[in-house]
Amino acid sequence: MVNTIDLIKKMKEYAEDNNVPIITDEGINYIRSYIKENNIKRILEVGAAIGYSSILMALTDEEITITTIERDEKRYLEAVKNIKKFHLEERITLLYKDAFDVELDEEFDLVFIDAAKAQNTRFFEKFSKNLAKNGTIITDNMNFHGLVEDESKIESRNLRALIRKVKAYHDFLENNEDYKTEFLNIGDGLAVSKPI
Ligand code: SAM
Repeated sequence: MVNTIDLIKKMKEYAEDNNVPIITDEGINYIRSYIKENNIKRILEVGAAIGYSSILMALTDEEITITTIERDEKRYLEAVKNIKKFHLEERITLLYKDAFDVELDEEFDLVFIDAAKAQNTRFFEKFSKNLAKNGTIITDNMNFHGLVEDESKIESRNLRALIRKVKAYHDFLENNEDYKTEFLNIGDGLAVSKPI
């Protein structure tokens, strides 16, 4: 019989073999502890990829429900398969859409932003409307593989433009008077934002 640990290992191998970026072990471990400590039950994720992080978040507690969004067809189809393998179809709602075309009325205790990094400010502005009163917005890849710290390593102009956008998002969070954000050097850099 295939067990959960094997299935998780297989998803990680698939991500590696197919160049699908997924959250680091350190990043997901932090988020799972945060979910437990803060009794988080309703989660919105922007950027499902193959379902790896949403599955691990859902496995934290049986009462957790997740809505997650993915616009890439191949990754979406892989996520559908993975969610089924873990029998989490009842608790994870996977939307095959561009996040900017998604309109949600529900409230969430946690919004996890992990999609196109250049769009982080727009994702934050759009989905903070769905945040419960005492909720949290977590954003991944604030360090962007160390490149935010050391721009000299970047040769491509596109990549340099992207890093500037990640930095601009950092400034947006830092100067946001409605939210207090902690920047954590965990995994690829997490921003943890709470309404003030
Ligand atoms: N959260 C996933 C995990 O850790 O397992 C990884 C997500 S991956 C870093 C980012 C994903 O966001 C990609 O699969 C990409 O196709 C998707 N994405 C980017 N922009 C998007 C958008 N506007 N709407 C929906 N999905 C988007």
